[in-house]
Amino acid sequence: MQHFPDAQAVVRALRPEEPVILNRPHAAARAARFFVEKFPGKSLYAVKANPSPELLQILWDNGVTHFDVASIAEVRLVRATLPGATLCFMHPVKSPGAIREAYHSHGVKTFSLDSVEEMEKIVEACRDQDGNAATDLRLCIRLRVSSEHAALSLAAKFGCDLTEAPALLQQTRQHCDWLGVCFHVGSQAMSPFAYVQAIDRVRAAIAEASVVIDMIDVGGGFPSVYPGMEPPPLEDYFKIIHQHFYALPIAYNAELWCEPGRALCAEYSSLVVKVEKRRGEELYINDGAYGALFDAAHVDWKFPVRALEDDLIKPVMDFAFYGPTCDDADYMPGPFALPEDIQAGDYIEIGMLGAYGAAMKTDFNGFGAAERIIVQDEPMASLYDGSRTRPEADNVVSLR
Ligand SMILES: *Cc1c(COP(=O)(O)O)cnc(C)c1O
Repeated sequence: MQHFPDAQAVVRALRPEEPVILNRPHAAARAARFFVEKFPGKSLYAVKANPSPELLQILWDNGVTHFDVASIAEVRLVRATLPGATLCFMHPVKSPGAIREAYHSHGVKTFSLDSVEEMEKIVEACRDQDGNAATDLRLCIRLRVSSEHAALSLAAKFGCDLTEAPALLQQTRQHCDWLGVCFHVGSQAMSPFAYVQAIDRVRAAIAEASVVIDMIDVGGGFPSVYPGMEPPPLEDYFKIIHQHFYALPIAYNAELWCEPGRALCAEYSSLVVKVEKRRGEELYINDGAYGALFDAAHVDWKFPVRALEDDLIKPVMDFAFYGPTCDDADYMPGPFALPEDIQAGDYIEIGMLGAYGAAMKTDFNGFGAAERIIVQDEPMASLYDGSRTRPEADNVVSLR
């Protein structure tokens, strides 16, 4: 991979015709160290947020040893990249073949589930050649919790509710020596209180079930910084989670886990795009809804932008973007604030795309290509750059 100081240097040197993904290894390393050092338990990286092998290696090199995988392809990828990693298969609906391969070929012992059917599927798939049940399974019941504090809901699809959880916990306990409870409060949870509500629900489920619980996994949802979304410091989340975890009726040596995706990799990448055409307040750029900007189009996510030409001198105004495909849905309303005199041929950097950005790119309509380049400058915003001197008292983050 080529190295440049920053996006402007890339544009000056290359005038790229296709979008370029800029990776910042130092930013991902810093986020990993933050979670490893400050989260009061184990931090699993949720691979779906960005499965790039370079990123997996950076996280591993900075102390992340456990990985939340959700498909057999993710299992194979992480195993091939990091032979020593611990993989946890945290998708509550898996195919028997995926479970079998994960357990028998890749050493996966930890599986999540939210139904009796899934539990039976796991037990069957992990039997040995003589038909004996596995004795080393680590099973984790996914509880449905509210997504009301999150920018993206994950409340509808997975998780058993409070009426089903106690019986499922009791039944699952008979098939494993290590039983956990997990949940996901939704992505980009803007308040630590999301985790308090969820842990209260865990308390109700385990009190009713009266079974020994060995692990609580508070899932992902830890936020990053975007325009209009500046969350409280992550230290506040960690503190409140720790307090409420401690008060649960669980084994004295129970473990606390979390599964950050976004928070570990949002700052890792940005994207350089070229303006192909301008029509009034609309810029036609060369990446979009079917590329790294899926969330900007489909869930109206706001990403920070900056123009990369020195000769743009006018004040900023609001623009919307069209992506390159022939589909009307390839539209990003923004608004994106850029200099009034921006025009076709100019370049823009779009920040905070390390999570659910590069990972979402498709080849639809022939527009999937993107070179990857390493840059050394700071991400457009950061939760980890030390700009907040009093994280407990001060919710302000830098947004350049
Ligand atoms: C997507 C996902 C995550 C990561 O979520 P973020 O909001 O990116 O932190 C963690 N756990 C599970 C089970 C997921 O599906």
